[in-house]
Amino acid sequence: MALMPTAAPAGLPTFSAHTRLLVVAPHPDDETIATGLLIQQVREAGGEVNIMLLTAGDNNPWPQRWLERRLRIGSPDRQRWAQRRCAEMRQALERLGLSQASLRPLGWPDLGLSSVLLRSTGDAVAAITQEIDRFTPDLIALPSLLDRHPDHGAAHVLVRLALVGQAASPALYTYLVHGKPGKAVFLEVPATQAQIANKREALLAHRSQLALSGGRMRRLADRPERYIDACQSSPAAVVLPWQPPRWLRPWLRLSVVDPTGTRGWAWPDAPLERTRDGRFRLSSSAGGQTAPCFARLSSDLPSPWIFDHWGWCELQVDPATGDAVVAWSDRAS
Ligand SMILES: [Zn+2]
Repeated sequence: MALMPTAAPAGLPTFSAHTRLLVVAPHPDDETIATGLLIQQVREAGGEVNIMLLTAGDNNPWPQRWLERRLRIGSPDRQRWAQRRCAEMRQALERLGLSQASLRPLGWPDLGLSSVLLRSTGDAVAAITQEIDRFTPDLIALPSLLDRHPDHGAAHVLVRLALVGQAASPALYTYLVHGKPGKAVFLEVPATQAQIANKREALLAHRSQLALSGGRMRRLADRPERYIDACQSSPAAVVLPWQPPRWLRPWLRLSVVDPTGTRGWAWPDAPLERTRDGRFRLSSSAGGQTAPCFARLSSDLPSPWIFDHWGWCELQVDPATGDAVVAWSDRAS
């Protein structure tokens, strides 16, 4: 069934048998929580859907400890957990109307996508480009750069870099699972009661995740399914969006990634200059940047907290000088 014309907000594409949707899921369950309705809409219109699964969700110790009644988790245990989560995901996809062949796992380490991106940028981007070339999507649903889970932010950057130089430019719809949307302008997927019920059924397949976090998972999945059109993003600021406290700066790392590669500095050594109002921007000594260009601020201090405090921003590049001059994000504020 195609979108109801009266319910579809401006900007959402009309789905048809020609629609080819690629969902980029960092972990098993993101596909259901973030895109369970979108997938059904495209399938019911006769379109094709592929799911690019970046990690198997194997670094998930607390649910594993709880369900397997074990404290220590070694490498074989993680592999077993990965198989379990992928089996759950296959069940969920079946309930959303997808075949087993629609799942395209890349097998990168759970909670390790930032490292994959920063240490092996070229290889990682090439792996995603290969999938995009194979499936030729006209619509990609991918994590928002605003998402505070480090794997989600890294997934956004990887996909954006993989699209550089592509002849086709698919529509990009970003979704937010972890974090606040700020003033972002969302497009909402309208859905029938049957589709909503089916999405809840698909969520039930992710039993390992429901064991300790059932309430949170259901709340996330029951939210209206909303996307930020990445092409509609607005400039956020003319400088880096971060002003870390002085005492913390020795433990901070600034990374910049663009199609030419990855550069990183300890914050005290980073090529930064102050603006008149005391904020930071990359100086021209950072070297020429090429769009799309992304910066990440992270801390080297050990922390039990897995979520990013600062995360990523997108830098607009001055085409004349190659200098990163404007910090963008898709927060539209
Ligand atoms: Zn995730």
